[in-house]
Amino acid sequence: MTARTLDGQALAKAMQEEIRPEVAAFTAQHGRPPGLGIVLVGDNPASEVYVRNKLKAGAEIGFRADLERLPASATVSDTIALVERLNRSDLHDGILVQSPLPKAMGAGAEQRVFDVIAAEKDVDGLTPVNVGRLVQKRAILVACTPSGIIELLDREKIPIAGRHAVVIGRSDIVGKPMALLLLHRDATVTVCHSRTPDLADICRQADILVAAVGKPGLVTNDFIKPGAAVVDVGMNTVTDAAVATSLFGEGHPRLALFRLKGSVLVGDVHPEVADVAGALTPVPGGVGPLTITMLMRNTLRAAKARAGQPVG
Ligand code: NAP
Repeated sequence: MTARTLDGQALAKAMQEEIRPEVAAFTAQHGRPPGLGIVLVGDNPASEVYVRNKLKAGAEIGFRADLERLPASATVSDTIALVERLNRSDLHDGILVQSPLPKAMGAGAEQRVFDVIAAEKDVDGLTPVNVGRLVQKRAILVACTPSGIIELLDREKIPIAGRHAVVIGRSDIVGKPMALLLLHRDATVTVCHSRTPDLADICRQADILVAAVGKPGLVTNDFIKPGAAVVDVGMNTVTDAAVATSLFGEGHPRLALFRLKGSVLVGDVHPEVADVAGALTPVPGGVGPLTITMLMRNTLRAAKARAGQPVG
C-alpha cells in the first residue's frame, strides 16, 4: 500500500483564499486590518524563520502583522510589559509570544508570560481561560496546530467519530489540545508520552495516529494499523549523515538533498510508514503550513469577536 498524501500546503493555500475576502471586508468595515503582534525575544535561528514565515503569510493575506523584538538579555518583566502594551493596543487583535523564550529567563518563564496575554487576543490558545474553554468545548481560540489537523482530517473526509485516535505527545501546545479536539469529535482517544510502555502496540490500534514528539523517524511500520491515517507533527532538523541515511536509504532524493545542504527537515514518522498507512501528512508540506494559516484564522476570529461580530 502507498499512503495517500494529505497535502497541508494545498489546504493552507485554499484556506488563505477563503480568509482573504473576510480580511478585506473587516478592513473596509473597521477602517483597519485585523492586527497580529508577534513577540520575539532573543535570536534563536529556528524562531527567526518561524516568525518570518508568520509575518509574510499575514502580510500576504492583508493582516497587519508587527514584529516586537526584545534582546536575549530581556527579563520576564520586560516581556510581560511588552505583552501588556499589546493587550492595550487597539490595533492588535492577536498576540503571539514565540516559543521558546531564552533559557536564561528561567523555568516557568513562558507560563508567566503566556498567563498575561489577554484571553480575547490569545491566538495560540494557551491562556488558562482558553484552555478551560477548550475543555468545556466552547473555545473561540484553540491552539493552531491541532485545529489545523482537525480541518485537514475533515476536508480529506477522514472520519473521526467512533474511531480510535492515538496521540503521541502531551504538550500544552499540541498533544493535549489535539486529544481534546479529537474527543470533542467523538473519537476514542489514547494519549501516549515518554513513559508509555508498549508504545508501538498501542499505536497499532489507532485508526488515526498523531505523532507530536520531536524524535526523527520514531514512528515505524510496526506502529501502524494497515490503512490508518497518520499525521506527522514533528519538525526535526537532522544533521547526522547516519540518521539521514537510516531514514531515507541510498538513492533517495532527500538523502541527495541532505548531502548537498548538510541538513534535512524530517518528521517523527519514518518514511517507510507510507507503505502501510492509508493516508499520511508529508514533512515538509503537511501540518506546518496549516499551523500558520490557522494562526491567521484565529487572528481574524479574535478581531471579529473583539468587534462584536459573529466569528463563524
Ligand atoms: P514537546 O513539548 O517537547 O513534547 C514532546 C512530547 O513527546 C512529550 O509529551 C514527551 O513526553 C513525548 N515524548 C518524547 N519522547 C518520547 C518517546 N520516545 N515516546 C513517546 N513519547 C515521547 O514538543 P511539542 O512542542 O509538542 O512538539 C512536538 C514536535 O512537533 C516537535 O518536533 C516540534 O518541532 C513539532 N511541532 C510542529 C509544529 C508544526 O507546525 N508542524 C507545531 C508545533 C510543534 P513527556 O511529556 O513524558 O516528556
